[in-house]
Amino acid sequence: TTTTQGLQEIAHNHITKGLGRLRDHVFKEGKGLRVLTTDGRKLLDFTSGIGVTSLGHAHPDVTEAIIAQAQSIIHIQCAIALSEPYVQLVESLLTMMPDPSLDSFFFWNSGSEAVEAAIKVARASTKRNNIVVMQGGYHGRTSGAAALTRSKTSFFKGTGPLMPCVYTTAFPYWHPMGVPKETSEEELVRQANLSIDNLLQQQSAPEDTAAIFVEPVIGEGGYVPAPKAFLQHLRKVCDKHGILLLMLDEIQTGFGRTGKMFAIEHSGVKPDLIIYAKGFANGMPISGIVTRKEIMDSMPPGSLGGTYSGNVVACAAALATTTYMRTHDILGNVNERSEQIFAGLRAIQADTANGGWMIEEVRGKGLMVAMEFKDPNSTLTSSHSKGPNVTLPPNLNKLVQDACMDRGLLTLTTSIYPVLRMIPALILSEADVEEMLSTMREAVKEVAR
Ligand code: PMP
Repeated sequence: TTTTQGLQEIAHNHITKGLGRLRDHVFKEGKGLRVLTTDGRKLLDFTSGIGVTSLGHAHPDVTEAIIAQAQSIIHIQCAIALSEPYVQLVESLLTMMPDPSLDSFFFWNSGSEAVEAAIKVARASTKRNNIVVMQGGYHGRTSGAAALTRSKTSFFKGTGPLMPCVYTTAFPYWHPMGVPKETSEEELVRQANLSIDNLLQQQSAPEDTAAIFVEPVIGEGGYVPAPKAFLQHLRKVCDKHGILLLMLDEIQTGFGRTGKMFAIEHSGVKPDLIIYAKGFANGMPISGIVTRKEIMDSMPPGSLGGTYSGNVVACAAALATTTYMRTHDILGNVNERSEQIFAGLRAIQADTANGGWMIEEVRGKGLMVAMEFKDPNSTLTSSHSKGPNVTLPPNLNKLVQDACMDRGLLTLTTSIYPVLRMIPALILSEADVEEMLSTMREAVKEVAR
C-alpha cells in the first residue's frame, strides 16, 4: 500500500499495541526541525525523536558520511576486525570527555544495551552486587535496565521478576517526595541526602553496593535537574565507601543537550562511568559507555560485545556528528535558545489571562524543557496561584500537547505527573522558537478556556 490510510490500517492491525504512539502520522521527509507527512502535513518537531536528531533531521554532514560509508562497507563485526570510523570515533570522543580519566570506550546499539553493560562493568569491577537508583529514574526497557527504572510501572508491569539487588533512594523533587511545591532546594537536597545515607545503613551495606545510577537531569521522570549539592553528596558517599561507582546516565543529557557537552560539567562532580546514546550520532542507532581503563579492564575478553555493536555506518555518523559539534558553536546556540524558550514560557505562565494559572512550573536545563501543569488531585501544588475558581481537568499536559499537535507542533509528555516536555534539535533558530512560543500560547489559551 502507498496511501496514508492504508499504511495506518496495516499498522493498527499488525503492529504491536505494546508500542504507544502519539498519533498515526506517517513521516516522509525531515529537514532541520521540519517534518513532512505522507498526507502533506508540515510539522514543527520539538521532539527530535526523543533527543536524537540534535543537528536536525538529515543533516548534510551526517548524511554524506552515512552514504560514503555505506558505499564502502556496511558491516564490520567488532570482534573480527577494527574499522577506521570506530577508532577515529574513540579519538574524537577522547577530546570531549568531561574528565581525562575517562579513557576507555565500548559501543552498543541502544541506550538500554549500554545500561546493561554498565551493570556488568559495575559488578565485575567492584565484585559487589547491589545497585542504587533514583526515585523517578529511567534507564531503559530491557530486563536489566527496566530493573533500574523507577519512573513508571508501565515499563515493566507484569514482566517480572526483574533483576534483584536494586535499591531506590529519593531524588530531590517536591512532587514524588510529597512535600509542598514551595519547599526550598536546600531542604529537598537535605532530605534526599538523608535518604541515601539511611539506605546504606538500613538496606544496602556499602560493602555490598556496587554503584549508584543517576541522570544529571531526570528525563522520563519529569525533567528535573539534579541540584549540584545533591550530586556532590553522592560523590562524597561514593568516595567514602571506597570502590563505589558513580554511574552517570547521560543518554538524554549528553552531547550538548543541557548547554555543556555533558550535563555533569554544570556540577564539577567527577563521574566514574558515563553512559551515552541518542544525540551522539544524529539518528543512527549507536550507544556506548566510557570509564577508566582499570574499571573497563575488569571485563575479560569476550564478555562485552554484540553482532552489531559499534556498527561502522553508525560510527561514521557519530564521527560526523561529534566532529560538527566540536567545530561549531553548538553550545552557544543551545544557551541562547534556551534563554529565549524559558523567558517565553515563563511569560505564558505569568499571563493569567492566557491560562498561566494552570502552569505549576516551567523547568529544565538547556534544551530539555518542561512545563508541569497543575494536578487537580494534588494537595502539594503552590498555594499562591490557584487561579480563578474553576475545576481543572486532569492530564492538562496531554490536552495542551494535543492542542499543539492540531496546530502542527510536536511535543512530548513525560512522567506520572502532568508534565509536557520539549527536546528540540540543538541547531534550532530564533524564528523556530518564536513559532513554538506562539503556538504554545494559543494551545494553552484554548485548553484554559
Ligand atoms: N536512559 C535514559 C536517561 C534515557 O532517556 C533513555 C531513553 N529515553 C534510555 C536510558 C534508554 O535508551 P534506549 O531507548 O535507546 O534504549
